[in-house]
Amino acid sequence: MTGMHVLVINSGSSSLKFRVYDMRDEREIAAGKFEHIGEGATGPADHRAALAQALAGIADRDAIVAVGHRVVHGGERFLAPTRMDAPALAELARFDALAPLHNPANRLGIALGMELLPGRPHVAVFDTAFHHSLPPAARHYAVPPEWRQRGVRRYGFHGTSHRYVSREAARMLGKTPAETNLISLHLGNGSSITAVRGGLSVDTSMGMTPLEGLVMGTRPGDIDAGALLHLLREGMGPQELDEELNHHSGLRGLCGENDMRAVHALAATGNADAALAIEAYCYRARKYLGAYGAVLGRVDALVFTAGIGEHDPAIRARVLAGLEWFGLRLDAERNRACRGQRAAAIHAPSSRVAVLVIPTNEELEIAREVISVIER
Ligand code: ADP
Repeated sequence: MTGMHVLVINSGSSSLKFRVYDMRDEREIAAGKFEHIGEGATGPADHRAALAQALAGIADRDAIVAVGHRVVHGGERFLAPTRMDAPALAELARFDALAPLHNPANRLGIALGMELLPGRPHVAVFDTAFHHSLPPAARHYAVPPEWRQRGVRRYGFHGTSHRYVSREAARMLGKTPAETNLISLHLGNGSSITAVRGGLSVDTSMGMTPLEGLVMGTRPGDIDAGALLHLLREGMGPQELDEELNHHSGLRGLCGENDMRAVHALAATGNADAALAIEAYCYRARKYLGAYGAVLGRVDALVFTAGIGEHDPAIRARVLAGLEWFGLRLDAERNRACRGQRAAAIHAPSSRVAVLVIPTNEELEIAREVISVIER
């Protein structure tokens, strides 16, 4: 009964995921997810029904002392985890346009949470917040001042994941985050890479939206803005352009498959497009590693996380190929053996830079942030 439970809610456009942790020992005590919300047939009718069903299945609801909510975009206003109330929710709505697929659903989750679980703090934790420490030169695009006044700048995403793994990495190295410089590679469906100096994000590959940076499952990452102008002039509409950039580019654009396992399988049949997709994916990541090494000057560790980063030794080895000049020596056997079951070091003893694989846990990081807000 007398637990210190934190409920974490991740409310998406057609899904709702939740976990409950007992924060006395960070033990996960409940978890679940609803998908295809409002799509008829089997799923819950709406987000309210999904959350009500989730709460009904949690045995010890009275032990929940606070609720954490994942929010994708905090804009320029929400720079840290924030206790939400009606005025804060109204302010958050200003940033819907910056993440139209996510933020409205995130806000709905907060509003429903406050209604169905009243009387305890509801804390929003933002994917963008970890990157608010980006120095001005990394934060700004070189564009006219009017654009910048309209919010055109780099925000960065996956911040909760980058923050979690960078703290775990410092712990594995026996240092404090403040003493640690590292580069974290979140390689999942969406991928991003972050340069972390002394525990703070100083550059990251995603920008104003999650389209910039690395090659991803269905997004191109960096692309010349001139190419988009060309397509617009040739008659492609913004809607189609949006669709193509978000869903038909990246690995899928290069070889027709977006899941890295399927890309490997295709490459194994001798398919040249799949081989190119893998090479382009790894090349882009390696290029950013070099850039962020230059940004940081001293790098204590590289950290791989998320679906591909945790489970795919071939991609890790390929990304790191030729980085010996960087002082980096991979232990091929350790790399091969590491499939993301637990955090592991995969560098050779002679390596000047540690290479770590750390399973990400955004929900636990959100719960930790909630505790730090309510204890403030
Ligand atoms: P999301 O960004 O949706 O949270 P994940 O971090 O779960 O995604 O990563 C999903 C991706 O990870 C999949 O699309 C797949 O390409 C990749 N992946 C998952 N497991 C493996 C594996 N064993 N080997 C290679 N890639 C994998």
